[in-house]
Amino acid sequence: MTCPICKKPLSSIVFHNVGVNYCPICLGLWFEEEELRWAKDEKDKNLNWLDIDLWKEENKFKVSAGIRLCPSCRIPLYEVYYGDSGIIVDVCNLCHGIWLDRAEFKKIIDWLHQKADYEILNNYAKNLFKELAEIFTGPETLREEILDFLTILKLLNYKFTAQHLTISKIILELPR
Ligand SMILES: [Zn+2]
Ligand SMILES: [Zn+2]
Repeated sequence: MTCPICKKPLSSIVFHNVGVNYCPICLGLWFEEEELRWAKDEKDKNLNWLDIDLWKEENKFKVSAGIRLCPSCRIPLYEVYYGDSGIIVDVCNLCHGIWLDRAEFKKIIDWLHQKADYEILNNYAKNLFKELAEIFTGPETLREEILDFLTILKLLNYKFTAQHLTISKIILELPR
């Protein structure tokens, strides 16, 4: 797999049996649909932080064709915007993979700090993944941010992948 920005091979982070790919140069992250499924867990559904607005309302999505290529399929990714969040996520309409720039990773975390009960979310991640930091095989920068990283995994799984249908519909209606 190839970084959509640097065009260099992606490396992968593995914990338990979940792999996420990242670019060792720009630290962008590539989440495959399969890899996001691991975060599914019944008891999570009542979490307060899930009530945040991000990726919740179908009519707040805007999509435009991008020029970056999907690391797996090598076809152009679509840029997905949400309301006034200022967050752009690149998605592949074929494999449903999600690319997050380093800057977008930071923006999402900032956004959560402002709009969500970050305390709850952070404590939650801490409890669930106490030992994870020790077995985390990714780069140092992400190791330090492991709670943020896990939070983003959860958020993408619950909020973003749930909207793939909406996003696909918008893509179908885009002018060619
Ligand atoms: Zn890169
Ligand atoms: Zn793809």
